[in-house]
Amino acid sequence: MLTWRQRLAAVLEWSVVDKSIILMVILLSVLSTYMLALVYVLARSDRERLVDVPITEQLLALESGMALGALLIIAAGLWLRRRLPDFLPLQHLATQYYTLTLVFCSYFVGTMTFCTGVVLLGAPVFGFILLNRRVVWYATASGTVSLLALSYAAGFGFIPYAPMVVPPTDATGNLFWINAVFLFTAPHFIVIILFADLTLNWWRKREDYVRTLSLTDPLTGIPNRRSILDMLDKEVARTTRHGPPLSVLLLDLDHFKRINDTWGHPAGDRVLQETAKVLRNAIRQCDAVGRYGGEEFMLVLPDTRLDGAVKLAERCRVQLAATVVTADNGEPIPLSGSFGLVSNELDLGVDAEALIKAADNALYRAKANGRNRVEALALQARPTT
Ligand code: GH3
Ligand code: MG
Ligand code: MG
Repeated sequence: MLTWRQRLAAVLEWSVVDKSIILMVILLSVLSTYMLALVYVLARSDRERLVDVPITEQLLALESGMALGALLIIAAGLWLRRRLPDFLPLQHLATQYYTLTLVFCSYFVGTMTFCTGVVLLGAPVFGFILLNRRVVWYATASGTVSLLALSYAAGFGFIPYAPMVVPPTDATGNLFWINAVFLFTAPHFIVIILFADLTLNWWRKREDYVRTLSLTDPLTGIPNRRSILDMLDKEVARTTRHGPPLSVLLLDLDHFKRINDTWGHPAGDRVLQETAKVLRNAIRQCDAVGRYGGEEFMLVLPDTRLDGAVKLAERCRVQLAATVVTADNGEPIPLSGSFGLVSNELDLGVDAEALIKAADNALYRAKANGRNRVEALALQARPTT
């Protein structure tokens, strides 16, 4: 079971309908703040000096109606969320309703305010992260058009500008309107910043997770082929010309096909897991081990000359041969591997591809010479031309 915090953090994965519901919940909380502010100002003894009282009363009634509308959309969402969780028209309806309600409310206190600016800029950014792109574009368009229409209609004198506002003439009035603007802006500010933080954090975590998945072999938990080749490339680039030398080891399990055929694939998988464990325990912190292919593993050993790498490979070989994996029928599965080892100590300019090819040749020699053994070679310096 996911906790509430986790579910909230995974808001990007919510269904279309659930996202529409949360949008209406946000609108409801914004409207509630506004309505509380209106009730407060209407209760003040100096209300005539601050606001146009009849208009403020009208706005309070209108906002109650708007809150009711949001509740109806939430009800529709609750009805739809199990039946049609991806019902996009509800998101269109919710987003348009959210936008037009706020534009309408902003008209009463003036369309050209700090609050409108925050919402106009913040809501689409927040919307693009959370909602369907097309839905947000349409809502941004209708919000901008209606805002401009109301502003210019007021500008040309067809309708009054900021009809609720009584222009302040003293410090009390000034202070009241400064507080009002901050109060109208605060819910948007909090919601936009909070959700942006939640979603971006969730995104970062998901990206880390996906990156780990893309670089890890799911069976053994060690780096996969792409990842170990990446590490090899980096080490080769680091060692080129200046050293210190680097060794690369390829391990291929002996007669692995026979293990699969005799004891079954799951037993083969366990052998691979145990092999990875042996290798991981044998290496130093700065060494790397990865699953190079089916039953082939690669070790990248930075700052390691061939003689040191041979000792490590021998240790791995002995430990692997001593590892006991039990088959489903209780039989012990005999285990061994062949190791091909190469170092660039005589030619620091050699590239990763040549190193792998040479390690593969050494491995081939280990197989040809009877398996369960280590064969090593140092790449010779190339003649300079
Ligand atoms: P050799 O000693 O010459 O290396 O013989 P081998 O049988 O190990 O060599 P071969 O390359 O013929 O066989 C490798 C086998 O590894 C074939 C394939 O079915 C098996 N294999 C590859 N990936 C996996 C895996 O993820 N799980 C299991 N159980 N088997 C796998
Ligand atoms: Mg093989
Ligand atoms: Mg093999």
